[in-house]
Amino acid sequence: MAKKGRVFSGARPTGRQHLGNYLGAIQNYVALQADYDCVYCIVDVHALTTVETTQDLKLNTFEMALDWLAAGIQPEESTLFIQSHVPEVMELHTYLSMVTQFGKLTDLPTFKEKVRQQPENVNYGLLGYPVLMTADIVLYKTDVVPVGIDQAPHIEFAREIVRSFNYRYNTKVLVEPQVKHTEILKVVGIDGRDKMSKSLNNHIELASTPEETTKRVREMVTDPARQRRTDPGNPDVCNVFTMHKIMSSQEEVDMVNAECRRAGIGCVDCKLLFAANLNKHLEPFRAKRAELASQESYVNDVLVDGGKRARAIAQKTMEEVREAMQLP
Ligand code: SF4
Repeated sequence: MAKKGRVFSGARPTGRQHLGNYLGAIQNYVALQADYDCVYCIVDVHALTTVETTQDLKLNTFEMALDWLAAGIQPEESTLFIQSHVPEVMELHTYLSMVTQFGKLTDLPTFKEKVRQQPENVNYGLLGYPVLMTADIVLYKTDVVPVGIDQAPHIEFAREIVRSFNYRYNTKVLVEPQVKHTEILKVVGIDGRDKMSKSLNNHIELASTPEETTKRVREMVTDPARQRRTDPGNPDVCNVFTMHKIMSSQEEVDMVNAECRRAGIGCVDCKLLFAANLNKHLEPFRAKRAELASQESYVNDVLVDGGKRARAIAQKTMEEVREAMQLP
């Protein structure tokens, strides 16, 4: 079946993936493969803007790729690769930076936020981040970028850079990417408060054993007003109930909703039910992960092959770009 166009998406190498990554992004990556030619990039160069040391970069990249493949990214269908394996992206970034106004970059909320987060390391890469991101997208002649509503302004900014480039060099060589609005689930961590994240240690790792997963689920914060087993609870303010709605059957969701309110079910039993459903859901993922991990060098081969395929597209784009710019 003919595909609808090319999708590009990138993510920083954060190592073993957690439930928030899975529900918020990876599941969507897998689903998009049916309709699009997908290019998925592990953006290790972007990571350099914030990491203090690169000693874990290789391992984190490997573990992340392993999880993506185990979750269903098909390397024969999609191009899965590492950003730095395609050095053309750095060249395009430089050219795009010449058509991007400094003031626009310093005004971006994402840059201001980073300055607040790491005032001791406001490096040039942070400022140029959206330009490199644009280079990532347009280098592969991307048609659509799947993003949540709150990320749409980033793509609009990329479109502006593309228009500036095409106008400056009187060309149409770069394609303005379109936004593909995607419902990106924001999964709350086991603290019941913040978005699930490794750095906050409120995550549930996909590659954990069923026992470890159950232990983490048992640590989940519930309705804070429910102090004793005999207190009625309010599932609407409880993250365990939110997770049931994603992972459990409608019958179970209805049961928890009703029984929690009249103290008919305790939080421990409620969590154990969720843990059982989550473990069942992750069974095929874990089996595939174990199989892939046992095939030495398979993941690396996939990444090398993906890099070659991505680079072939990139080199062609850069030939056109240099010609449009009339570089000597
Ligand atoms: Fe949350 Fe379930 Fe406890 Fe209700 S019974 S407060 S939904 S964990």
